[in-house]
Amino acid sequence: MTIVIRSPREFKLWRKNNQAKSLGFVPTMGALHLGHESLITLAKSQNELVALSIYVNPTQFENKQDLQNYPQTWDSDLEIAKKHSVDVIFAPEYTDIYPDNYNYSVVENNFSKTLCGASRTGHFDGVLTVVMKLLNIISPSRAYFGEKDFQQLTLIRGMAEAFFLDCEIIGVPTVRESDGLAYSSRNKHLTASGRKLAGQINQIIKAAPSAEQATAQLKAIGFEIDYVSDVLGRRFVAVTTKETNNGNAVRLIDNVEV
Ligand code: AMP
Repeated sequence: MTIVIRSPREFKLWRKNNQAKSLGFVPTMGALHLGHESLITLAKSQNELVALSIYVNPTQFENKQDLQNYPQTWDSDLEIAKKHSVDVIFAPEYTDIYPDNYNYSVVENNFSKTLCGASRTGHFDGVLTVVMKLLNIISPSRAYFGEKDFQQLTLIRGMAEAFFLDCEIIGVPTVRESDGLAYSSRNKHLTASGRKLAGQINQIIKAAPSAEQATAQLKAIGFEIDYVSDVLGRRFVAVTTKETNNGNAVRLIDNVEV
């Protein structure tokens, strides 16, 4: 049975009552897809219990329109959680997570200012802060994060080490559609032609001999480029397109080993 808990106090009580069991934790912002499902499947295989959180964290959205447009699909999320026999869904409200109204935050001063952090000011402060709060509430044995957000995964690993967190951080390979596009909740906003174009992102960053050439190719097919950058043995990309159902630009990210 999948239960839903909304308050941190209640969750801590649930965890206390199950403290002898290993707990895998999958944090998400909902609108679940096959990428999230692969995190849940791995968590199920490595732990006695699995907790899934569904919380669209406002402090990591520097763009309020992006926050307003973020898809919310509670009924289908619940079905997916049940299908995987998730034990507990944690679905709090802003005031549950931010009783301090975001007066306190976790800040990383180097890597978080690059790549996605360069154009999305404060994005990773919001991410690290909410993950720290969630880890303290959930108290998991292991927490699962996708390599699709490789910069995020790296920063969370660094935070866990820096703050001596008692939780193993597990990275999970990116799940892709047949043309290479990484599953993402934001893909829902793409028009048919935008969706077709988006399939080329992964193909281009894998095949181009340099970041500069990948940039030129992505530009040539109509993307606006935020960055293409080779660091840490990987090629990271962020682009935007206006080929969307609502006319608002959608930002798509990916990374591959180089
Ligand atoms: P989100 O709901 O977008 O915040 O994502 C929740 C978690 O799922 C994060 O750790 C993401 O990196 C991970 N994730 C999202 N999309 C994918 C994907 N296509 N493959 C693997 N993991 C993913």
